Amino acid sequence: MQRCNGTIEAHNSIDVREMIRRGMLDHPVGTTWQQCALRWPWITAIRLDQASLQLRLRSGRFVVVPLAWARCGAVGNRLRLVCPCCRRRVCKLYEVGGACRCRLCGDLRYAMHRRSVAAGRCLTAQRLRLRIGGGALLYKPDAFPPRPRGMWRRTYERARLREQRATRKLDRWYWRDPEWPMLVPR
Ligand SMILES: [Zn+2]
Repeated sequence: MQRCNGTIEAHNSIDVREMIRRGMLDHPVGTTWQQCALRWPWITAIRLDQASLQLRLRSGRFVVVPLAWARCGAVGNRLRLVCPCCRRRVCKLYEVGGACRCRLCGDLRYAMHRRSVAAGRCLTAQRLRLRIGGGALLYKPDAFPPRPRGMWRRTYERARLREQRATRKLDRWYWRDPEWPMLVPR
């Protein structure tokens, strides 16, 4: 079971941009994908209909997700998913309580916004360290990773300064229970 802490990062999702990238929407109407659980563990099948997707969820429910174009200013029209609950056009839908919801209907927030200011700072620092490649150093307060080979000195220094600024007022306590596993993409 997924841990439900109301954060976006802890929920299964489906992203229309990824489906486009994989060319799924170029298939003929009626195409059905039965093995989607490998990529989307909460979905057991996807069928491409005329202007919608039919998802079979692992909860056994069938959900029709209409596809719609959204105007995106200068970049033209972009394909979006329509939230089955509120009809908003969104890129991503999430598995919430065995159903399929957008971020707002599922009352999901980014992890950063679910946390206190101090914990948010810690998350910032950990995110920076991860980017530099210091996964093993996430638990230690004063262990910013060394500059990786091939990274610009200036880029590295900027990250280090940002990290210092974020952690200056942090209690050591916050480092004991890092939230970093949710930063690592599934
Ligand atoms: Zn919605």
